[in-house]
Amino acid sequence: MIKLKQITKSFGKNQVLKGIDLVVEKGEVVAILGPSGSGKTTLLRCINYLEKPSDGEITIADLTVQCKRPSKKEVHALRGKTAMVFQQYNLFRHKTALENVMEGLVVVQKVPKEEARKRSVELLEKVGLAGKLDAYPSQLSGGQQQRVGIARALALNPEVILFDEPTSALDPELVGEVLGVIRKIAKEGITMIIVTHEMGFAQDVANHVVFMDEGVVVEEGKPNEIFVSPKEERTKQFLKRFT
Ligand code: ATP
Repeated sequence: MIKLKQITKSFGKNQVLKGIDLVVEKGEVVAILGPSGSGKTTLLRCINYLEKPSDGEITIADLTVQCKRPSKKEVHALRGKTAMVFQQYNLFRHKTALENVMEGLVVVQKVPKEEARKRSVELLEKVGLAGKLDAYPSQLSGGQQQRVGIARALALNPEVILFDEPTSALDPELVGEVLGVIRKIAKEGITMIIVTHEMGFAQDVANHVVFMDEGVVVEEGKPNEIFVSPKEERTKQFLKRFT
């Protein structure tokens, strides 16, 4: 389980997160929606300390961290329980697809090289890239690079995978293949938190939808509660743009 308690984050005088509470059960797929600038990406990055929250408490499985004064050990442990899929893929340019997936296993998790290779090959097969093991990122399409990014996240076997607008850098014709892979792994019971502007996908794949605006959670619930019968005016106005 993941529990966020009163997470706040300011950049200078700009308070971007104003006390976020969120509980994510094991195996849940959470979609975070909201207008541009509402704090979605910042919240996601606070969960694994890519951004340091100003205050609050984060629990992931058996680890609880007080955000104001975490020890280095706690931050390290928190990061070890998460994996992130980035908007811009963030692959190592000078490493092949296979080496990109193996990297975290070998370097961070100290898995023996042969075992790491075996697991990485399986995961690349799972995301439909069996034929691209030795390709470099520059030889792959954006959709293929993002699928390597997903395989790399899966390899770490984290408590939660954090997706930061995973398809927003892609050409429209490549969005479907990446959403297809996310949809497939969602069915396997992996806990996922996805910041997305893909409303159809969120409605379809998520079992918990969170609508944020101006640094607060305005409304959350099951996809039908949010998409079909939203209660809050701000949610209604936001969703109107997509119909
Ligand atoms: P989008 O849908 O456009 O990606 P978002 O909801 O993910 O938006 P964030 O990227 O979290 O929004 O940004 C929220 C606010 O925080 C914005 O006003 C942004 O300018 C500000 N912000 C984000 N990162 C930083 C930073 N590193 N330094 C200063 N301000 C930042």
